[in-house]
Parts: sequence; structure tokens; C-alpha cells
Amino acid sequence: MDLKAHIRAVPDFPKPGILFYDISTLLRDADAWQVAVTRMADVIRDYKPDYLAGMESRGFLFAAPLALKLGCGFTMLRKPGKLPGDVVGLDYTLEYRSDRIEAQADAVPPGARVVVVDDLLATGGTLSAGIRLLRQLGADVTAAVTLIELSFLSGRDLIDVPFASLLQYD
Ligand code: AMP
Repeated sequence: MDLKAHIRAVPDFPKPGILFYDISTLLRDADAWQVAVTRMADVIRDYKPDYLAGMESRGFLFAAPLALKLGCGFTMLRKPGKLPGDVVGLDYTLEYRSDRIEAQADAVPPGARVVVVDDLLATGGTLSAGIRLLRQLGADVTAAVTLIELSFLSGRDLIDVPFASLLQYD
């Protein structure tokens, strides 16, 4: 199946000059979503994760079904103020703004093998922050995987664990 045919590119969203890769059209098609998750699972299985960590919010849409398929736990890396209990946070800077992500302090046990999942890699800032936050918790981050990679932004250069994507755009 040609998964790219199920992804809609929306010009000038959320601001002028950005070409937004919309996965809503893929999720609407049960077969396409199933194929995307199956192909991502085939990549992730080799890294033998104990947990998958999903980046808020579109990362959850892949990480959760992947965790069920692979028989591992799922944990959420979220925007500030969303998670109850003790949290650990990390501030990071993207090209034109700074941001913060949080995880529950007991999200994964120290030494756990974790693969980080998101829908799309652009500059790599978000995924790289996720990896650093998981390391603060003592996780062994074994890989990072996305459905889409905007290759022309060279975001994978920021990712210091094995990285894989299913669909690349130049
Ligand atoms: P970055 O930190 O630059 O790698 O951006 C990746 C995050 O922003 C992911 O969580 C994506 O969902 C979102 N994102 C960035 N650029 C786009 C884009 N062109 N289309 C869709 N989502 C994007």
C-alpha cells in the first residue's frame, strides 16, 4: 500500500510558509492506519523495547496501538501541566520558540529499554527533547521512530540513537 497517498499536505498551516503533513486522512482509513502501525512495528521490534514513549499528541496515535501490538507498555510525554503526580520536565528550544515536555517521575523503571515514537520528524527538536527527558528518568533509549521524516531539514542529525522513518519527504 502507498501510505503517502493517504497523507494530505496542507499549505500554509499553521502559519504561512509551512507545508503541514496531515495524518488525519490516514487515520480515517482503517486499512491504511493498520498498515502504517504494522510497518512501524516491524521496525521497532528489533530494538526490543520494554516501553514505547509517545510524544503529545499525534505520537500517541501510533505509539499506543504499537505498544499493544508489540506487547510492551506505553507512556506519554506531554505538554506541561497535563500529568498528575510527580513529574519531571525538560525545557527545550525550537527554531523560533521554546517549549517544555513532561513525564511522570515513575513513567519507566531505571534501565528500561524505551523506543520514542512520534508522527513526524521535522527539525528533530521535539524528539531529541523526548530522548533527553527519558534519560533523566534513567531509561535506556534504544531507538526513535516516526511515520514521516522531512529529510530536507536534517532533523535526524539531532537524534543520537538509531532513528527510522517509514516515509521521507524532500
Ligand atoms: P520538530 O521538533 O521540528 O522535529 O517538529 C516535530 C513535531 O512538530 C512533531 O510532533 C510534529 O507533529 C510537528 N510538526 C512539525 N512540522 C510539521 C509539519 N510540517 N507537518 C505536520 N506536523 C509537523
